[in-house]
Amino acid sequence: MGENLERLKQHISLLEYLQRHNWKPCRTGSRQEFVGLCPLHQETRPSFYVNAAKNLFYCHGCGRGGDLIRFVQLFLQLPFHQTVVHLEEELTPAPVSLLLEETAAFYQLQLHRHPEATRYLEQRGLHNPALIEELGIGYAPGGNLRRHLAALGYSFDLLLDSGLISSQGRDAFCHRVIFPCRQLGQIVNLYGRSIGAAFPHRLLPRSKGGLFAWESVSRFSTVILVEGLFDLAVLWQAGFRNTTCAIGTQLTPAQVVQLAEQPGRSVYIAFDHDDNQAGQKAAHQLARRLQSVGIHVHIVRLPEGLDPNSYFVAGASAADFTTRLREADQL
Ligand SMILES: [Zn+2]
Repeated sequence: MGENLERLKQHISLLEYLQRHNWKPCRTGSRQEFVGLCPLHQETRPSFYVNAAKNLFYCHGCGRGGDLIRFVQLFLQLPFHQTVVHLEEELTPAPVSLLLEETAAFYQLQLHRHPEATRYLEQRGLHNPALIEELGIGYAPGGNLRRHLAALGYSFDLLLDSGLISSQGRDAFCHRVIFPCRQLGQIVNLYGRSIGAAFPHRLLPRSKGGLFAWESVSRFSTVILVEGLFDLAVLWQAGFRNTTCAIGTQLTPAQVVQLAEQPGRSVYIAFDHDDNQAGQKAAHQLARRLQSVGIHVHIVRLPEGLDPNSYFVAGASAADFTTRLREADQL
C-alpha cells in the first residue's frame, strides 16, 4: 500500500483530477495557485485554492484542506482504502481499459453476425443503425471471446482479473447484448443484457463509473434519469438526448455530485412502474436525496406496468412522452 500511495501522489496531479471532474479554476496572481468554487460545499464566491506545485488544496469557506487522497475521500465520501482503489482504477487502468476496448469492438462485430441479437434489438424498439453504432452496442454469443483475446496476446491472468472470463476459463457474457460504459472516453465496464433465460442484468465486477454518457448529457440543465440502458436508448432515439442512466435505481455519491454540479438543474426521474411499486419507491427515495443537494426533482408517471422502453415499444411517440414530462409530479 505504501508504494501505491507514493506512486499515486507522484503521478496524479490534483489540479488535473479536479479538472476531469469539471472544476473551473481561475489563476490567482501566483503562477502555481488556482482558485475556484469549492466542490466540497455550496458557495457562490470562490474560496477553494489549489497549489499545483505542492499538489495541495485548501478551502477558506469550509476550512478543509490536504492532498489528492484527502480530497477524493471528502469528495466521494469513501474510506481511505477505497479511495486508493478508486484512484488506481480511474487513473492507471491502461491494460484493462485497452482490453475492454478490444472486447467491445469484438462484440460489436458479432452483433451483425447473429440474427437473434438484431431481432432482440428490434423487439426492444431499437431500430436506428446510427444510434446502435454510436452507443457501441454489441453481442456476446459466448464461447469465442477468450480465444480471440488470447490471439491478440492478452494473458489468462489479465482476462481473469478483468472479470471477462471465469476461473474455469468460460466467457462471463453469453447470449447477451453488450453496452460499453465509458468514463472520460475510456471504457470502465461492460453491461450485458441477457436475451435468453439467464438473469437479465450483468456488469463486470468493476466500478460502474459515473452516469452513463455523462460527457454529452452534462451540458443540459434538464436531465432525464432512467433505470436501464434500453430506456436510455429508446429515449435517445426519440430525440431526448438529455437522458442518462445509473444502471439500476441506486446512485453512487459521485453520481449525485455529477447531477448537482450545475446549480438549479432539474432532474426528471423516469423509473419502472412495476406492479410491486419497487421502482416508484426507489424514485421517491432518490428524489429526497437529490432535493437535499439543491436539485429540482420531478417524478414521471407512466402507465401501470411500463418503463420508458416498454412505453415506446407499446406505441408511444415522442409527443406522448413530452406530455408525461409536462404532467410529471414536481416535488
Ligand atoms: Zn469548501
